Amino acid sequence: MQTQNLGYPRIGNQRELKKATEQYWAAKISAQDLLQTGAKIRLQNWQLQKEAGIDLIPCNDFSFYDQVLDTCIMLGAIPERYHALMQAQQLPVIDLLFAMARGYQRDGFDLTAMEMTKWFDTNYHYLVPEFTANQQFLLYHNKVVKEFEEAKHAGFTCKPVVLGPVSFLLLGKEKEEGFHRLELIDRLLPVYLEMLASLEAAGAYYVQIDEPCLSLDLSKAERDIFTKVYRSFKEKLPHLKLILTSYFECYGNNLATVLDLPVAALHLDLVRCPAQLDDILATSFFRSSKILSLGLVDGRNIWINNYSNSLELIDKAIKRLGKERVWIAPSCSLLHVPCDLSLETKIDPELKQWMAFAKQKLEELNTLKQLADSKEIDKLEANKKSWQQRKDSARIHNQAVLERMLLVTAVDAQRAQPFSRRRTRQRKTLGLPNFPTTTIGSFPQTKEVRNWRAQWKKKELSDEQYETLLKAETRKAVQWQEEIGLDVLVHGEFERNDMVEYFGEQLAGFAFTENGWVQSYGSRCVKPPIIYGDVFRPKPMTVYWSTYAQSLTKRWMKGMLTGPVTILQWSFVRDDQPRSATCMQIALAIRDEVLDLENAGIKIIQIDEPALREGLPLRKENWTAYLNWAVRAFRIASSVVEDTTQIHTHMCYSEFNDIIEHIAAMDADVITIECSRSQMELLDAFAAFNYPNEIGPGVYDIHSPRVPDKEEMIELLRKASEVVSADQLWVNPDCGLKTRHWEETRKSLIAMVEAARQLRKAPKVFI
Ligand code: GLN
Ligand code: ZN
Repeated sequence: MQTQNLGYPRIGNQRELKKATEQYWAAKISAQDLLQTGAKIRLQNWQLQKEAGIDLIPCNDFSFYDQVLDTCIMLGAIPERYHALMQAQQLPVIDLLFAMARGYQRDGFDLTAMEMTKWFDTNYHYLVPEFTANQQFLLYHNKVVKEFEEAKHAGFTCKPVVLGPVSFLLLGKEKEEGFHRLELIDRLLPVYLEMLASLEAAGAYYVQIDEPCLSLDLSKAERDIFTKVYRSFKEKLPHLKLILTSYFECYGNNLATVLDLPVAALHLDLVRCPAQLDDILATSFFRSSKILSLGLVDGRNIWINNYSNSLELIDKAIKRLGKERVWIAPSCSLLHVPCDLSLETKIDPELKQWMAFAKQKLEELNTLKQLADSKEIDKLEANKKSWQQRKDSARIHNQAVLERMLLVTAVDAQRAQPFSRRRTRQRKTLGLPNFPTTTIGSFPQTKEVRNWRAQWKKKELSDEQYETLLKAETRKAVQWQEEIGLDVLVHGEFERNDMVEYFGEQLAGFAFTENGWVQSYGSRCVKPPIIYGDVFRPKPMTVYWSTYAQSLTKRWMKGMLTGPVTILQWSFVRDDQPRSATCMQIALAIRDEVLDLENAGIKIIQIDEPALREGLPLRKENWTAYLNWAVRAFRIASSVVEDTTQIHTHMCYSEFNDIIEHIAAMDADVITIECSRSQMELLDAFAAFNYPNEIGPGVYDIHSPRVPDKEEMIELLRKASEVVSADQLWVNPDCGLKTRHWEETRKSLIAMVEAARQLRKAPKVFI
């Protein structure tokens, strides 16, 4: 039995790659320096994996930005807009890579970046390949062979990792009409063959070929392409040993196709889909000579492995296939977990013994290998003890939380009156004009504000000093909103670092790391909170700031909360109970906060759920179950208020079309959504469905410093009023203003208020 790793985090233990990359962008270090940092991280990773006892160590899992972008460059799938730049400057690959990832506005060029989107259901973003009808491919930059040789030179025979051709095409987008990207397979295949042949010639024995799209619902035609491609690989390169790898879901309907592919080894994500092992062992797979790689160690979460469970699966597989044909591995690449738990000095030791980051996960694999050989038995006992302790620990289980969950009924998830009645009462109480104006919550977090927080954390500012500064900032924001005539004000969120962290820090059941960074995109990393135990709210979280802000104005101040699904989605979640149960606990905590805000006189409360859409399972058959509990969680959090209290929600980056009924089922009185970039196209879903409640389709894009003028916002609202009735419409930007500067924020919002005023004067055009 061998151990294999599918990919290791590439940011470096101390985010060395992030730091070097950003320094290079700021022209503080040379390209040579940056390349060296990359080489150093690769070497360290190989060494570390070898020391951990891993038999098959990956290479080409490193990237200076993103592995899909690397694949585009490798295959010469470089959009035409970059060609002139490449020629004019004889651009080194590293600069081409960054130009494609981030755009290029220098030397007379104005090139936009490639689009970015989420990698399956993770918080990692990849760059979306762009294809044209006459797309050509060529082996432009053979990075994979280079890394293989670099490893060889350093004394490691590594296993190259490449993104498979079918997933590469499926993950991309057609940039013109009249063809489907899968039609490009015949042109792509020879380039893959050339690349694989060059790997074989360089001495590669096993090659890991990732086809994560096998975890999605595929059509028969799509499955047939897999068959064709992998038969062709086998025919042309009969000796190369391919490890077909997919993750994040079961193979599902694709299983029969997958089992038929002529590859040397097949990897299973047994964390997401444990039942798959029995299914496969029951087929004629055992008659083949293929290897089965059991993805036992969770590559998506930070909890220790349950050795007893894993050993059972290993045992089952070995009984059927024999030792030689069973490998063990993480469920997916370890890219999605932080590097090294031993760097954490502040996590409580009791919690820490239940956790494993990337380095520890590799050690677990090695231990499992030994345990399968009946060695190191005391490690099994220690592991059992840890799990037992976690099961019994008073830190995790809170009787009051459990009892409260049992008492939740349908009534708790239901506002007293339907929207139409609430609306009449809210209009009366709130007295807002038509086309009411508001913002999404945050105002610019200037350097000063961030400095105050840093100083306060270092105790260079006292609580009092920090609070005084924040109050002054909040007061300025409130006064200014009054001055320009916004209708529903916000306090500005100056006291918040991150919209999930801020709540996590105040809720019981959450832990935080010092160094638990995970790559989100390019040089951007996030540090997700860890939900380890039953969640409850020891005391009010936002009432102080909301009531302070409300005391400064006679206009309505909107309370501002992060919703339960988003808090769940952006954290590492405990794995000893269903996610739905954890979500419900968070929902109850938010519900307490909503009620306290209402009691404190806050009449409008926004519960942000930007991550609702991204939590959607990869397979459609699982959507309803997820949406049911996610929507219910939002309703539990929000339904506690009087009919006269108005509940808002906000969502961004969402494609709403597929899930519009469920968004309606959340029954928020008002939803504000991101729309401006797609010029209100998103609203079509709302129109087709006849969305009943009020909507604020974002009228300008906050992701760019550009200041929109009044006319264009009026035009967008005019478009919006073609599909939803004008008296349903709110006027607001498309997301929070945290990352913007005050200067452009001021100009944009003044123009936005002007636009709303103009509409009020001439509403007939719209109705
Ligand atoms: N209220 C948050 C803000 O304004 C919402 C952020 C988000 O949608 N991601 O910053
Ligand atoms: Zn948003």
